[in-house]
Amino acid sequence: MESPQSTMNAIWLEGGTAELRTNTPSPTIEPGWALVKVRLVGICGTDRQLMTGYAGFCGIPGHEFVGEVVAGSESWLGKRVVADINVGCGACAACGISAHHCEARRVLGIRRLHGALAEFLTLPETNLVAVPEEVGDAAAALAEPLAAALHVIDDAPPDATGATVFGDGALGHLVARALQSHDFQVSMVGRHAEKLRFAETHGIATTTNVHEIQREPLVVDCTGTPTGLRTALDHLSPGGTLILKSTHAPGVKCDLSGLVVDECRIVGSRCGDLQTAVEALTAGRVRVHDLTGEPRTLLQAVDVLSNASRPTELKALIDPRS
Ligand SMILES: [Zn+2]
Ligand SMILES: [Zn+2]
Repeated sequence: MESPQSTMNAIWLEGGTAELRTNTPSPTIEPGWALVKVRLVGICGTDRQLMTGYAGFCGIPGHEFVGEVVAGSESWLGKRVVADINVGCGACAACGISAHHCEARRVLGIRRLHGALAEFLTLPETNLVAVPEEVGDAAAALAEPLAAALHVIDDAPPDATGATVFGDGALGHLVARALQSHDFQVSMVGRHAEKLRFAETHGIATTTNVHEIQREPLVVDCTGTPTGLRTALDHLSPGGTLILKSTHAPGVKCDLSGLVVDECRIVGSRCGDLQTAVEALTAGRVRVHDLTGEPRTLLQAVDVLSNASRPTELKALIDPRS
């Protein structure tokens, strides 16, 4: 199936540099896939990691999006959608459980599949989740990271009632709110008082002083830094679980013998269930409206990705239509 136009505006990432290209070929749609006109895209730590060579990605980045289906099956046409970003081979044993762990998977804007920082993207219709009218575009653009945040609940020890979240970026806030929505007593540790206040308005205890923090049976690392990870490890109680949400550049050094002595678990945690996230947004169980600001243009995305402009909002949004 042909796209409505042959070329489009898109951000192209190659060799650590991102640039706006006005003549990128529009996606061609495979059978069973939909063409989505992108409305908003969120930028996250993973996108910035791609700039430094993470996953060896070359192409159009962007994986947190909301858009509108403009070509595909009748039942999807015109629907506002978010999506699971993992596309498995569909034939292997892993795909029998979840495409998230298919070794041959493609991942939107991260691994062998062009992403959302463009006018159009394409994904299998089976990956799409419709967004109800009551969830606005800005909130819907956070559905993908919120799904990842809610996935923490799946790995929490069954008897844990308290949790400490390290890292005061958007993901840290989403994880703290996800845990709070499941009745955890949550504390957040970060280095920026101005970012932590977004948690305080949600009734989440915060501190910039790690010495104030008790050890907890559930600790989540959303810092994105080796120092943050080591601090998070130091605050885990014996028998506790550390959930890693940050993808770190290779070569993180830390002393793991404490984990052996205390018999702790480390759990890596990546993508979650988009339907669960959309339901949480629709029901107002997790509120995200304060994390985003005015959307920027596709050209401005270049500066956000390269950290040339540091947005004051926690989650920078890009509108590829502008
Ligand atoms: Zn992300
Ligand atoms: Zn597979």
